[in-house]
Amino acid sequence: MRPMNAKPIQSTGTKIVATIGPASQSETVISDFIDAGLSVARINFSHGSLQDHAKTVEIVRRVASEKGAAIGILGDLSGPKIRLTDIAAESIHVSPGDYVTLAPDTGESTIDRLRINQPEIIADIKIGDPLLIDDGEISIRATRQTADGLVCKVEIGGTLKSRKGINLPDTDLHIDSITEKDWGDLRWAIEQNLDFIALSFVRKLDEVQRLQTRIREWGGDQPVFAKIETRRAMDHLEEIVRAADGIMVARGDLGVELDVATVPRIQKQLIDLCRIHAKPVITATQMLQSMVDSPTPTRAEVSDVANAICDGTDAVMLSAETATGNYPTRAVAMMHRIARETEAYDQDFQPTRVNKDEPNCTVSSAVARSATQVADEVDAAGLVVMTIAGDLARLVSKFRLDRPVLALTETEQCRRRMALMYGIRPVFVEKKESDLNAYETVERVVLQQTDAKAGDLFVIATSPSVTGTVNTGSITIRRID
Ligand code: PEP
Repeated sequence: MRPMNAKPIQSTGTKIVATIGPASQSETVISDFIDAGLSVARINFSHGSLQDHAKTVEIVRRVASEKGAAIGILGDLSGPKIRLTDIAAESIHVSPGDYVTLAPDTGESTIDRLRINQPEIIADIKIGDPLLIDDGEISIRATRQTADGLVCKVEIGGTLKSRKGINLPDTDLHIDSITEKDWGDLRWAIEQNLDFIALSFVRKLDEVQRLQTRIREWGGDQPVFAKIETRRAMDHLEEIVRAADGIMVARGDLGVELDVATVPRIQKQLIDLCRIHAKPVITATQMLQSMVDSPTPTRAEVSDVANAICDGTDAVMLSAETATGNYPTRAVAMMHRIARETEAYDQDFQPTRVNKDEPNCTVSSAVARSATQVADEVDAAGLVVMTIAGDLARLVSKFRLDRPVLALTETEQCRRRMALMYGIRPVFVEKKESDLNAYETVERVVLQQTDAKAGDLFVIATSPSVTGTVNTGSITIRRID
């Protein structure tokens, strides 16, 4: 029989997200990832085919099930990323002072006519606007419009390669932020019952709401993570955080769309906002970038991961490191080690910061806050959260309790969705067992999943959805027999 709820080997509060790609799409590597501390596998719809992604889903689900591990799958929709088309020659080299023409038609790119995947946006580009290619490695600026297209002057030169991304930080783009491809990928993600959906290049609130509505219409209920990576999103941060089910600090594009020097402060600002609103937040991109080619990270990268944890992130994410890198499992293991060290360092660094400005207190948020306080006051061996959809667990997570938090739920789906919440250990219990009065079940789970022993106290917090009575939660203190 498969283990239902494997005890995490060396559990960390911080969750680890790894992007699956050619370097990791195998049973062996995914199994190693889970052993090394993986919480969520990310499928990036910008790369690979749906057939590839179906294989990833199949492997992750099968291996996680064999190990009894709660591993979520995040489907990351590409959004309206503007890219160069395929380049006819192997590559094109441009030098500062050169002029290139952006042609408003379709086809391959050549030295005379560069082309992009969404030529209709060329009409939105104003003379003087910068175009940053390949994460800003190459920079060109619109200088004049001709019958042939938009002529741009090269400011930073380099080698142009097929399908490299282009950012236009100063251009107001009149394109839909959810493309036809995204809708197709979304339909597939719902059919596959993925656990989370992320939306790239979010600019404003209604884009998040539109996606949430469409997911419901198509029979899904996946939480939506808004990726913050545009200048426009910065003007609507608070309302986006309130509406979204989670946030990703997408530092790659963010550092191109805005001055890269602003990324650390935006990261802190976003994580703070997410903590206040109890929304899970993922810090992403280039966290251990040098491990794409090297078995060890730089000291700066290690500090970056540690600092994101000190900032209060729920999860840290690996992209190229695990998708195409040479040391994918070492990268996951490294994140796990950094998280363990950092969390052990000073448990006071987080809980003090979340009590401010809490909006809209509800029965659930009152139960969450009080249960964590009670657990501290009685020096409980752990806090057990009884939850149906994971909401109470999310609210408890915000308080970063310095003791085990087990979230018991009756569905595998909820168990996987809690895999992104800081400090939450999701546990599946059979429906008949999760009855509020089934203290034996709770006690068995606590003994199995933590170091608690007979005589220790533990606290049980029950969400309104579990009590079955509208707006009625409960907090119970029990001693292990
Ligand atoms: C990012 O830009 O930081 C990001 C996470 O998005 P993507 O990997 O899709 O470029």
